[in-house]
Amino acid sequence: SLVRFYSSESAAPERSGHAASGLVTRFTDLGSLGVHERLVEAITRGMGYESMTDVQTLTINSALAGKDIVAQAKTGTGKTLAFLVPAMQKILADQPDLATPSRMRRSADDIRAIIISPTRELAEQIGEEAKRLAKGTGIIVQTAVGGTQKQAMLRKARIEGCHLMVGTPGRLHDLLSDPSSGIAAPRLTALVLDEADRMLEVGFKTELESIVELLPYRGDTPRQTLLYSATLPKNVVNIARTFIDPTNFEFVQTVS
Ligand code: ADP
Ligand code: MG
Repeated sequence: SLVRFYSSESAAPERSGHAASGLVTRFTDLGSLGVHERLVEAITRGMGYESMTDVQTLTINSALAGKDIVAQAKTGTGKTLAFLVPAMQKILADQPDLATPSRMRRSADDIRAIIISPTRELAEQIGEEAKRLAKGTGIIVQTAVGGTQKQAMLRKARIEGCHLMVGTPGRLHDLLSDPSSGIAAPRLTALVLDEADRMLEVGFKTELESIVELLPYRGDTPRQTLLYSATLPKNVVNIARTFIDPTNFEFVQTVS
């Protein structure tokens, strides 16, 4: 029921004291949760970050424990890394060969993680951050947004391959619904909806609902879904119910 999305164990807003509660709060300690050292190094040495923000602590710990996430957090709280870390770790867990740059067969028809973002600019920013995180691994990141040449993007994805795709709802729906695009995700392991409230505000409800129909849910590799939003009006809760596993999710709400 709708109420279930407001009644998870950790629904109380938290500000601090996460370390005391046994949660990992420093990026350098993520190895203890199984995060690959290449990812840890990319964050601590490459990006220079040490402590996680609240939304990062709460969602990374729960997502690495296998839970779906519904998270409400303000702009500027570091949501990008909050979802990129678990999404990329899942890719590496499924394909350990990708921990190092590899010459594995490359294609765009076995995408493992998809991140949906409301605008071209935001999708491109997320794509850049994902590439910084993927540096030193064999994970290939592609961006699929409206207003760009579709054929050129498809050619690039086919040649370079794609493990993680960041895109806007319209373009992603366009690609996933067209079998001739060569873009497919039959073994999708992580799905992220970023800024869900904005995506609905600009009228992407139909595209989102169609995308979820086109993606596998419970296969050999069950899909994990992470939803982020600055606000949680009823239409966002409804879309969360369409995407999130109601029997295994964590509701995260941060105040800072
Ligand atoms: P949001 O998506 O919540 O608006 P972003 O993911 O865009 O936030 O992050 C906002 C800014 O904070 C970015 O410049 C990002 O690089 C930086 N940032 C993210 N996490 C951390 C962290 N743990 N420590 C320091 N800076 C961070
Ligand atoms: Mg953001």
